[in-house]
Amino acid sequence: MRAMVLDGPGELLREVELPAPEPGRGQVLVEVAACGVCRTDLHVVDGELPDPKLPLVPGHQVVGRVLAGGERFAEGDRVGVPWLGWTCGECRYCLSGRENLCDRARFTGYHLDGGYAELLVADERYCFPLPPGYDDLQAAPLLCAGLIGYRALRLAGDAERLGLYGFGASAHIVAQVARHEGRRVFAFTREGDAEAQKFARELGAEWAGDSAGAPPEELDAAIVFAPAGELVPAALAVTAKGGSVVCAGIHMSDIPSFPYELLWGERVVRSVANLTRRDGEELLAIAPRVPVRTQVETFPLAEANEALARLRAGQVRGAAVLAVIR
Ligand SMILES: [Zn+2]
Ligand SMILES: [Zn+2]
Repeated sequence: MRAMVLDGPGELLREVELPAPEPGRGQVLVEVAACGVCRTDLHVVDGELPDPKLPLVPGHQVVGRVLAGGERFAEGDRVGVPWLGWTCGECRYCLSGRENLCDRARFTGYHLDGGYAELLVADERYCFPLPPGYDDLQAAPLLCAGLIGYRALRLAGDAERLGLYGFGASAHIVAQVARHEGRRVFAFTREGDAEAQKFARELGAEWAGDSAGAPPEELDAAIVFAPAGELVPAALAVTAKGGSVVCAGIHMSDIPSFPYELLWGERVVRSVANLTRRDGEELLAIAPRVPVRTQVETFPLAEANEALARLRAGQVRGAAVLAVIR
């Protein structure tokens, strides 16, 4: 099979031929049709996440069809393979509905080979059936941008005035779900990014502006998707008493110190880590009802480095997706 492989942190991915993986017990062999490109892939490739499997096939928003293996899916079934690839099932987190926090969790495209390849194997218990109505390319961003965004939205509580910091793949999905739930959306982008601000307004944001600026009124919650720690005090400063600032990325630059006054008034700062299978089931059920429309920018598998570079530079509108098999 053809695959894009990371040999070491900071290196470009290399296009290689690898032997087809063989499904073990409880695993399915999946023919990959599309794989979303996530900011987390960038953190893995850039060495900001420690100890990846090496060499590694990145990618954890995989849409494909089952070729063999397992019992849960029939041959030809379309499945999604997400970031959460395996959990122990016996630790205090797994036993309390918090498998996203499992100490021994293994993640697709990080500890396990992922979807920047023509084939992958995955534990069938962590694969999702995908709703019809989304083609393979459009379904891919639901699997992480959508799932993590949805989990972050849930942790924002019942906030009516919702701020989204960083209007990329996740925010463009969350904005649609939030509007569907009757919330008001305020979008914050890199300074002067008129294109992203226009995109946010098209998706229902009633206000869009620079992340250092102030929205026209206070927020009840903010979700920070951009990996920039300085956005946390900035978001707190425009969040009402009792509101939450939810950090949705797996990696963030250091948060600068800030006066206690910003946290006072029962404001909350918290992170979102990974996903549970329940998050996936919920989001994949709600997405067609909204209906969430994903906007994707497509790259051939061999141009994964280009897709990552454009994402790093903030040049992707919506979500980047690798078209693996046409
Ligand atoms: Zn566990
Ligand atoms: Zn991701």
